[in-house]
Amino acid sequence: MSPVRRLTMAMMSNSFSLKHGLSLWCPQTPSLNRANPSLTSIKFRSFQRCYAAFANENREYVIVGGGNAAGYAARTFVEHGMADGRLSIVTKEAYAPYERPALTKAYLFPPDKKPARLPGFHTCVGSGGERQTPEWYKEKGIEMFYEDPVENIDIEKQTLVTNSGKLLKYGTLIIATGAAASRFPEKIGGNLPGVHYIRDVADADSLVSSLEKARKVVVVGGGYIGMEVAAAAVGWKLDTTIIFPEDHLLQRLFTPSLARRYEELYQKNGVKFLKCVSIKNLEAGSNGRVSAVKLGDGSTVEADTVIIGIGAKPAVSPFEKVGLNADVGGIQVDGQFRTSIPGIFAIGDVAAFPLKIYNRMTRVEHVDHARRSAQHCVKALLSAQTYTYDYLPYFYSRVFEYEGSPRKVWWQFYGDNVGDTVEIGNFDPKIATFWIEDGRLKGVLVESGSPEEFELLPKLARSQPLVDKAKLQNASSVEEALDIARASLQFEAAV
Ligand SMILES: Cc1cc2nc3c(=O)[nH]c(=O)nc-3n(C[C@H](O)[C@H](O)[C@H](O)COP(=O)(O)OP(=O)(O)OC[C@H]3O[C@@H](n4cnc5c(N)ncnc54)[C@H](O)[C@@H]3O)c2cc1C
Repeated sequence: MSPVRRLTMAMMSNSFSLKHGLSLWCPQTPSLNRANPSLTSIKFRSFQRCYAAFANENREYVIVGGGNAAGYAARTFVEHGMADGRLSIVTKEAYAPYERPALTKAYLFPPDKKPARLPGFHTCVGSGGERQTPEWYKEKGIEMFYEDPVENIDIEKQTLVTNSGKLLKYGTLIIATGAAASRFPEKIGGNLPGVHYIRDVADADSLVSSLEKARKVVVVGGGYIGMEVAAAAVGWKLDTTIIFPEDHLLQRLFTPSLARRYEELYQKNGVKFLKCVSIKNLEAGSNGRVSAVKLGDGSTVEADTVIIGIGAKPAVSPFEKVGLNADVGGIQVDGQFRTSIPGIFAIGDVAAFPLKIYNRMTRVEHVDHARRSAQHCVKALLSAQTYTYDYLPYFYSRVFEYEGSPRKVWWQFYGDNVGDTVEIGNFDPKIATFWIEDGRLKGVLVESGSPEEFELLPKLARSQPLVDKAKLQNASSVEEALDIARASLQFEAAV
């Protein structure tokens, strides 16, 4: 890029950053003096020297993190014509942003069932958008820094330092660092060879290479990751046991009765369950690799591969000083994803934001929020949009999806799982659970719904209509129950 274009861009950047009361210039660089060209040229040279100290040419906007939220943010910058020559993305990973949920789904399909691999699932294919390969970022003029995590921030100087020592300058900073898998401590075997955590492609590749030679797999954790990985492992025809301390699967969302249906299905597919069980440590065999899981009661379960899915922690480092939320963790933002520092934003898993619909602060570790928060934040930044983010919680999972699987599982949930529940359907394949509080429908989950049924769920959860619980309980099918709920919605709309 020519020095003139760089200078023009830097001037444009600077004028933009005034919106935040911030400057893109080095602190010691005075502004250009139009009245005195010779002075200007001296200052331009000093600007060039200063400029050379920064590793990024695109400084107006910098996104830290190269995951789901970053990919959707990049798309929104491009849609607004504000990416080319202006946006840099710096990421820890070796890959351009991709749809992370694929890692425990199609990525783990058995080898003969066409497992997904990059570039197949780069963002934004998950929402029907363009596949943003590394070439896409180049074509759009977005500067990418791969495999170089940010390790330091200087809020005053508006600079970042990466692991390789690069100094990056930003006018506006978007933190999209996501979350990191929670680990077992090293002293109880959490780092043994054969013990896996799954957060990124490198983790998934390492797991696949273990599965290729595995015989006995233990999955620790009965949440989303545990359920998806256990379903994948039996797809590989491996002896698979899932172990968790709760008394049923996905305790955060499922009712005991709903969980029982899924547990029975998993058991039919060959998954063994150890529930209400604590783990003392992971044991190593003579080859140093994990060989068993020792339980709290002293018994052991043989294992050559252990996958730990016990949750994740927001990746706030090195941005703690930007301001954390003490209750839900993560970086505190407002309804426009602004942190307490002007010009610094946070989106996706790492952001603690006001959940307007339920009037509480929250963090959401789900891809739908990553996409929407990215789009909302960038639109607010680049346009006159000022409205508050109004997110409706949405969770889903899909398992046993590979070709030839006797039964695919796909559920969707919208809303809040509070109040009493009504369960309808026999899980053959459909089942629905309705959460009702003070007579109002607060949340709804449907397994194996049709596209029209899935479309109805967010409308119900958003409107929270008054429902006749007794009538719902007497519904003879999921279809009938959804018709009753739809009628309550229409009734409220008509009143
Ligand atoms: C295996 C798996 C399966 C999932 N399945 C589902 C699902 O079925 N449905 C669903 O709704 N959600 C699912 N999720 C959650 C969903 O993927 C996340 O909510 C989403 O990826 C969050 O997007 P994000 O951009 O905030 O974070 P991420 O996608 O995690 O991206 C964060 C990025 O920042 C990078 N990074 C971190 N620190 C730094 C640093 N200091 N410097 C530079 N880069 C850094 C990370 O390496 C990563 O590339 C799943 C998550 C995982 C791990």
